[in-house]
Amino acid sequence: MFRFFMALGLLVSAVAAILVVWAHQLPGVMRPDHDAPRSYLIINAGLLDPATGSVQANGHVMVIDGRIARTGTGALPARPDGVETIDAGGRVLMPGLIDMHVHVFDETDLAAGLARGVTTVRNMGGFPFHLPLAARIERGEILGPRLLTTGPILNEVGGRNGNLLHEAVEGADEARASVRRQYAAGFRDLKLYSNLSRESFAAIRDEAAILGMTMSGHPVEGTEADPVDFAVSLDAGFRTLEHTESIVWHALNDETDPEGVRQLARQIAASGTMIDPTLVVHENLARIVETGGAHISRPAMASYNPVVAGFEQENFEFWSHYPHDDRTSMQAFYVEVTAALHEAGVRLTVGTDSGVMATPHGVSTVREMELLVDAGLTASEAIRAATLNGAEALGLDGQIGCLAAGCAADLILVAGDPTQDIAWLYQVDAVMRDGRWLDRDTLAGLEEAGHHPSSLRTWWRLGQHLRAIG
Ligand SMILES: [Zn+2]
Repeated sequence: MFRFFMALGLLVSAVAAILVVWAHQLPGVMRPDHDAPRSYLIINAGLLDPATGSVQANGHVMVIDGRIARTGTGALPARPDGVETIDAGGRVLMPGLIDMHVHVFDETDLAAGLARGVTTVRNMGGFPFHLPLAARIERGEILGPRLLTTGPILNEVGGRNGNLLHEAVEGADEARASVRRQYAAGFRDLKLYSNLSRESFAAIRDEAAILGMTMSGHPVEGTEADPVDFAVSLDAGFRTLEHTESIVWHALNDETDPEGVRQLARQIAASGTMIDPTLVVHENLARIVETGGAHISRPAMASYNPVVAGFEQENFEFWSHYPHDDRTSMQAFYVEVTAALHEAGVRLTVGTDSGVMATPHGVSTVREMELLVDAGLTASEAIRAATLNGAEALGLDGQIGCLAAGCAADLILVAGDPTQDIAWLYQVDAVMRDGRWLDRDTLAGLEEAGHHPSSLRTWWRLGQHLRAIG
């Protein structure tokens, strides 16, 4: 009898395990059809080249094996055998969007981004699963935006905003060891967080230079006992400095004096450092305060990872009951500072912090572009920020974010002209990713897939990450 129950128990566990794995399979829409073509002649399109910022009517783009082979207007080129024609119906064709600051916790985050025309993302805090996932996307085994990632977030032990998920170091030796560990794990770009000490920061920068790694992140503030001047971060060769909010906090001590802002903008412009404002994530924080928390359950949050939401619950509670309106005025100030940066000639990229702080993937990228327009960029300049500037910051100029022969066929078909009204980017009718054509139905499928993040996968990966940085 005992054996019978043992056997029954084993059988039940096996069936349960199979069901769990089955329930957490990737949605079918994220598995590309390997026989589908990657060579097309797209005709009758308004061509939006971010380099000129204007739309040329009656254009065509020839894509061969996932790359743009030629673009032009007027008379069509001869169509090679095996190349299918797509009629764009006069709509606007442009490079897909590059989001420079996201947090990917599950493949469904990538589905939500791609559904909205985001064709490249930079993940700003690497977990072990990100690199193999990026490779699978690169090989065409999974449909998603091109995935680039930094290593795990480097911060000092005991830092003010210390977080369980940060790789915390204490002093120069540990900092060097962490950089080497990240290099050995396959990461080539580092993410630095605010509270690194002067010594740890210097060690990271030097070790990165030795290994040929790049850096991005928050301006480094140092410790209370030994604060690090903002200018140090401008001299450090960051690919991008993140968050207007962090810059205001560090460089201006949150003071809203207009002359101080103009001076700061000139200082950043002179350094040549690119800034990734991520205005949308603070806007969401301000909305949480303003709505007493209702903003957290808005419809766009359907794709938000429930495990992340669980971790953030306490934070959300705090801001939902925050009794002041200072977040609203600070949000307006961050937009003003971003305007001053732009006016001074600082080059901006488009990043969102999607994946954390009530900022969902995909739709937030377009919202960030609207906020850049609020900050005084023309729509064409916001488009340039989301394409050419992002590509340049990633060292991929001429390869992505462009509409010319040799560029990746990462394209979006927009219902109207976004250089006239940036909000047209909320209506992406089709996406081409690495030469694969994703029509309206496929995008709807991806959007739906984005609504089903897997808690099981997320927990598993958090565990892997904690073991890796532990
Ligand atoms: Zn972030």
